[in-house]
Amino acid sequence: MPGTLYIVSTPIGNLGDITARALDTLRSCDFIAAEDTRVAMRLLSHFDIQKPLVSYYEHNRRERGEAVVRRILDGESCALTTDAGTPVISDPGGMLVAQCREAGIPVITIPGPCALISAFSLAGLESTRFTFEGFLSVNKRQRREHLDSLRGERRPMIFYEAPHKLVNTLEDFAEAFGSDRGILIARELTKTHEESYRTTVAAALSHYQENAPRGEFVLVVDGAPETPVLDAEDAMAAAVSAAEAKVAEGLSRRDAARYAAEAFGVARNAVYAALQK
Ligand code: SAM
Repeated sequence: MPGTLYIVSTPIGNLGDITARALDTLRSCDFIAAEDTRVAMRLLSHFDIQKPLVSYYEHNRRERGEAVVRRILDGESCALTTDAGTPVISDPGGMLVAQCREAGIPVITIPGPCALISAFSLAGLESTRFTFEGFLSVNKRQRREHLDSLRGERRPMIFYEAPHKLVNTLEDFAEAFGSDRGILIARELTKTHEESYRTTVAAALSHYQENAPRGEFVLVVDGAPETPVLDAEDAMAAAVSAAEAKVAEGLSRRDAARYAAEAFGVARNAVYAALQK
């Protein structure tokens, strides 16, 4: 009989958020696969749990996953944890779940803290729909393509961000979504210096240009506002005038045409041609 893989969520700051099932599972499993064994050790020693640990992280996940699967097939049960929150969510684990399923191993979730869900609950939005975008790539082209694909997105969009990249990301949001777009900044959730507030992209940008960002951030960006249904001629006129406004703000004609074409559902080449006149 194979054992079981347990996907165990751990606190995102406040250790009081560990669940009773997470503690039971960490105590009763045979071993723990942890993203960073030192971080896991701190958590385990706080709760007085001693358990064999193996490291399971981004760069060893394929081979280590195979080793974990072999142990589970031999009858051991494994708890997977990451440094904070729910494994797999912008964290390693997805491949291990797939490998276990492939091998016929039962996979059980032990739900608990997750930064994106916590942040969305604070956004004050009626929408039950949202998109989770995780971290933007550090690669400029991939980042641009990712944000371009979201220009017309109506649903609120949730992003993770590291403090040293925050200003850059807010600049990119201003370019992609407009500087007056609403945003929830959720920082250091569940920790001593927790804060969350709604503002605009422009106001957040100017705040963090003045005050160096510290701590962990989740950003919940409002979806694109509903635009009235326009006939083709009006849509083109509106797109051209939106593109002209973007050019006046300093965007290149090419990017302004792309932005306006997506926003108004018209042909990019036609907007670009109109800007040349
Ligand atoms: N798996 C985790 C989860 O369930 O949320 C996310 C892991 S991801 C590597 C780490 C990112 O989550 C941070 O850079 C930050 O964007 C967000 N995050 C984690 N803890 C947070 C907290 N206490 N407050 C705000 N954001 C947090």
